Amino acid sequence: IKDIDASRTQRALVPSVGIDYDSFFVSQLNALRDEGRYRHFAELERIVGAFPKARLHRPGQPPRDVIVWCSNDYLGMGQHPAVLETMQAAVGSQGSGAGGTRNISGTNIAHVALERELATLHGKQAALVFTSGYVANETTLQTLGAALPKCEIYSDALNHASMIAGIRHSGAVRRIFRHNDLDHLEELLAASDPATPKIVAFESVYSMDGDVAPIGQICKAAHRHGALTYLDEVHAVGMYGARGAGIAERDGALEEVDIIQGTLAKAFGVIGGYIASSAATVDFIRSFGAGFIFSTSMPPAIAAAALASIRHVSCNLELRVRHQDRVERLKHRLHHAGLPLMPSATHIVPVLVGDAARCKQASDLLLDGYRIYVQPINYPTVPRGTERLRLTPTPLHSDEDIAYLVEALQHVWRTLGLDLGIAVNGKP
Ligand code: PMP
Repeated sequence: IKDIDASRTQRALVPSVGIDYDSFFVSQLNALRDEGRYRHFAELERIVGAFPKARLHRPGQPPRDVIVWCSNDYLGMGQHPAVLETMQAAVGSQGSGAGGTRNISGTNIAHVALERELATLHGKQAALVFTSGYVANETTLQTLGAALPKCEIYSDALNHASMIAGIRHSGAVRRIFRHNDLDHLEELLAASDPATPKIVAFESVYSMDGDVAPIGQICKAAHRHGALTYLDEVHAVGMYGARGAGIAERDGALEEVDIIQGTLAKAFGVIGGYIASSAATVDFIRSFGAGFIFSTSMPPAIAAAALASIRHVSCNLELRVRHQDRVERLKHRLHHAGLPLMPSATHIVPVLVGDAARCKQASDLLLDGYRIYVQPINYPTVPRGTERLRLTPTPLHSDEDIAYLVEALQHVWRTLGLDLGIAVNGKP
């Protein structure tokens, strides 16, 4: 920002507007910086076969290899040979872009095959692919909430920004229930007009705490009050359930969920999002969802690669077993080292720091001293005072990687004077 040529900044064209646009933006950015919340990009070069290692590039410094502990390529599928070969072959045969929106020359055989696979995976009649999980949430909730007369949307307090955006843009009445609080949801539903159309929107695995929703119970409550259920399984698909269809599959609640939303960008290692639901619901979103209709569809090679990834992941239970084994090992080690592991029922392993500046310092020390890359997580992603390091073990992290990380964290905690609880092994 300091290097910006002042003569090239955007000025108010008419003095009466009373704002110097770039000065305004810079002052807002400086406020963010003062709070320690300004985000710098970590420029990674991923290296096929090396994950969880990657090369980090920083201005004015030579690149260095780091161990990545905060990737959402949860299963390492972003570098799996089955996925890469399929993607390369599809680029070779079909080229790069899709060539249009889905309705105007942009529907490829690969999209259709992918949608069939996703519908089967989730035990639904149909599925629809979007360019991202964000767009899938935003478009679907916006379209449903706007179309259903006087619709009310019941939203978990910790729902992702993409769901919040969709609900807001829909113009539906938004009612927020306390996070994972079934009683509060029941109370709100019971207080509403039984004749009003309703949607209950929630997630299965919450991305920053790693806790899990009681899907079956929430769906039962919703259905008792005539509501549709909308479940974001972005942090669960590929990783939970016998075939990797998510927590709803694991908990035997697939049929209870009316609309399942997922991503192709995390456990499946590619990019894109989707919904799976009844044929009528999917056809409705396909026909009325602006974020679906008016945007170029994903490249065929991406759709083909996603399909290859889903097929590989869904029949590889060992991958999920190995993943959970890594998760348990890391949690166990952190606990024994006296590090403040936050409660988590899943592969998302948050370690509490509780302060934005300290969290950034911890992340910097890990990188500079140990070549470990973990991005600090700050407000507004998490509430102030709960800033944390969010660790995401993958099946590719070795025992040595885990031991090294825990040792490095202990050193960093000591250096920063952070609280190291009494370690179970007696050596805090
Ligand atoms: N839902 C949740 C809960 C998420 O955490 C995210 C992204 N991190 C999304 C949706 C959006 O998914 P995508 O990255 O595929 O856009």
